[in-house]
Amino acid sequence: MPETCSTCPYCGVGCGVLLRPDGAGGLAVRGDPDHPANFGKLCSKGTALADTVGLGGRLLAPQIAGRTTDWDDALQLVADRLSDTIAQHGPDSVAFYVSGQLLTEDYYVANKLMKGFIGSANIDTNSRLCMASTVAGHRRAFGTDTVPGTYEDLDEADLVVLVGSNLAWCHPVLYRRLLDARSRRGTKIVVIDPRRTASCDQADLHLALKPGSDVALFNHLLTRVEDKGALDRAFLQNVVGFDEAMLAAGLDDVAMTGLQPADIEAFCDLWVSTKRVVTVFSQGVNQSSSGSDKVNAILNCHLATGRVGKPGAGPLSVTGQPNAMGGREVGGLANMLACHLDIENAEHSAAVQGFWNAPTMPGAQGLKAVDMFDAVADGQIKALWIIHTNPAVSMPNARKVREAIVNCPFTVVSDITAQTDTARLADVLLPATAWAEKDGTVTNSDRMISRQRAVLDAPGQARPDWDILAEVGRRMGWSAAFDYQSPVEIFREHAALSGVAGRLGRDFDISSLRDLTSQEYTALKPTRWPISATRQGGRFFGDGAFFHADGKARMLPLTCKSPAAKTGPRYPYRLNTGRIRDQWHTMTRTALSPRLSAHLAEPFVEIHPTDARSIGITAADLVRLKSPQGSAILRAVLSDAVTPGQIFAPIHWTGETAPSGRIDDLVAPITDPVSGQPESKASVVSAERFDAAWYGFAVSSGPLLPECSYWARSRTQHGWRAELAGLNEVDDWHHEARRLFGLPDAEVLIFEDKARGDVRLAFMQDDRLLAALFVARRPVAVMRDYLATLPGDGAPDVLTGRTPADRPDPGPTLCACFGVGVNTILTAIETGQLTTVEAVGQSLNAGTNCGSCRPEIAALLARTMHREAAE
Ligand code: SF4
Repeated sequence: MPETCSTCPYCGVGCGVLLRPDGAGGLAVRGDPDHPANFGKLCSKGTALADTVGLGGRLLAPQIAGRTTDWDDALQLVADRLSDTIAQHGPDSVAFYVSGQLLTEDYYVANKLMKGFIGSANIDTNSRLCMASTVAGHRRAFGTDTVPGTYEDLDEADLVVLVGSNLAWCHPVLYRRLLDARSRRGTKIVVIDPRRTASCDQADLHLALKPGSDVALFNHLLTRVEDKGALDRAFLQNVVGFDEAMLAAGLDDVAMTGLQPADIEAFCDLWVSTKRVVTVFSQGVNQSSSGSDKVNAILNCHLATGRVGKPGAGPLSVTGQPNAMGGREVGGLANMLACHLDIENAEHSAAVQGFWNAPTMPGAQGLKAVDMFDAVADGQIKALWIIHTNPAVSMPNARKVREAIVNCPFTVVSDITAQTDTARLADVLLPATAWAEKDGTVTNSDRMISRQRAVLDAPGQARPDWDILAEVGRRMGWSAAFDYQSPVEIFREHAALSGVAGRLGRDFDISSLRDLTSQEYTALKPTRWPISATRQGGRFFGDGAFFHADGKARMLPLTCKSPAAKTGPRYPYRLNTGRIRDQWHTMTRTALSPRLSAHLAEPFVEIHPTDARSIGITAADLVRLKSPQGSAILRAVLSDAVTPGQIFAPIHWTGETAPSGRIDDLVAPITDPVSGQPESKASVVSAERFDAAWYGFAVSSGPLLPECSYWARSRTQHGWRAELAGLNEVDDWHHEARRLFGLPDAEVLIFEDKARGDVRLAFMQDDRLLAALFVARRPVAVMRDYLATLPGDGAPDVLTGRTPADRPDPGPTLCACFGVGVNTILTAIETGQLTTVEAVGQSLNAGTNCGSCRPEIAALLARTMHREAAE
């Protein structure tokens, strides 16, 4: 079969992929060499996409109250309950919570249905958790939510500053692009992040500032720009608010950053003296109670120097989701109208109403995500439709959100699987098509609109989201407005509406695409907006023309504010949250790939060794974190990547993979007052050792069913693995292990040392290992990565928990593409005297495909060389 061009469904880089179906429901995936976002490269997640398209766990038919039904009954029930709720309680008693995973066409229909026909603005998206502060910052500075620059700026910059962005793990293909530019032109890299991340390995300078102090740093930079005569006086003719911004900046205190003065001045000197500077920012900036101010502090510096919208110069926000930008374009946020029009602007609202021929429009903003779920909790929202997102895990104060959903009178969930924490709470479940079955468009972080193309048939009764939404709209009585037969019709309408927005002076105008034929839509190549009669792609604002009514930009007077929650004796630690390299959001797709789960198989907390010592925690202990909102149990990783008083934990684990590792149960629902974005990186917590009575490690060829205080399970190439721990003694491990593995009759081998509390059991069939369990009173010391390869094998020595002498333990997987473990790489470095990442690649292939592991290989090399130098 020929290859089809499409896009990766994970991060906002928006990489192009080439998909070749195998005719049996599977796919071959490779990077699209012609896509301008990635030129053929993919990271580990994109490379493993083919592992995630199977039907395991798919929702194949609608369900009402857990029972399979047909579309007619399900959609009629949804339409009736929404209509009844609106009739009884008004339009604002219903809400949609949608997702940056939606295609633009899906998003457009959802927004049109809610804002134009239901007549409420209660539609918000999980992008609220990701980049709402950037939207607010852009709109305050530029007059519109416009990303001024492009990815090409990374190729042409002389200095790239990463602020609150672990680009190496969260946007790996852009990071490689940056490193390629660095090797060509010597681009300097500065990382501004409280934590030392993989992105610091190649940095010239890492500023580990105190959480939340970014505004103080950029205010200080602004004063140094003036001191050093680097203001662009001509460009400032296009800017309002300069004097006020400078005054406020001068009053702010850079000491709040906790940085060494020499490091601050080194950064300022570099920034001021480098004309081609790109400031990349992401969730570390956005997920803050002062996120909008942080964004504007960065924009202030770029505006004051005229370094915006010019080759190699400008601010560049990178979005977390594949179509966060598309959601912003269609008005998927509760405080925006379609096509970057303003919801509270009567002229804009009337224009959209006229275009849609809509019966009603909301006159005010709707409820933003945190407020929306509060309104569900207090009964204001009585019907909720959640589409392709998992707020029962991913929202702040997630435990309360779960309770709110449970108590909501009517909850609909559209998803590809019923096996999410949120889907399990739904009254109605609607099976939607998945990534490789969907047809439409997405927009990436640099305004590139790309086609996502369906290459696999929709399984079972799964339907596209636009189709589901449109049919509900028709059944609610708006047949003409939702009479769509295909995504191209929606795209044309969206493009035509953008022409209205363009005439009203908005940036988002793709009206040149409004008459695309179906064939042209099918063949549409990646295209950067705007695409109108007057403007085609390129950068914004280099000419000094902005979108405020007076055509000028705004600099804002800003003062640094510390995170809202304060540490103290009860909650002495500041909790930073984030992503890991090989998982995506709540793992509903990436956890299907054994090679992605091999990198970090268990939820963990990074804690500084000094803090760990003070509370009696040693490496591999379990730690219980508590916040005013909830608690979690995580594996301790002692690391000086975090500073004392700060801890870091990833966001990905759920009730399906590690119920006590749901980190958003701890996050306070504190939001930025401008953007409504939650402060997900600065909650306060306590930490203590989790004193389990026993610890276990299990491998199995079949699924495991743990029932204990702590467990975390993941897929392997040979089945499953799990970490376990319990507070209560188990009297009969033989019986418990049979229950855990679902193996009532298999032959068993048992080793038990009652005095030490060690128990080891292996279940065999026809001389092949089915499952094994290792239990001890301390965290189990066995060769996990080796044991995970044994199910299905003869495994005569499995109960030793160690590799045979002729089979070295590979250690945790570092290179997901080639399955190369840490121990294998370390051995190669030492025995082969390897000194470069390239030499490791030549020896083991590690790091030679997607390259996502190259920073970690570099770190292993540095560690080895450092140790040798010290010896
Ligand atoms: Fe997908 Fe990785 Fe590209 Fe992001 S960087 S779009 S996750 S391949």
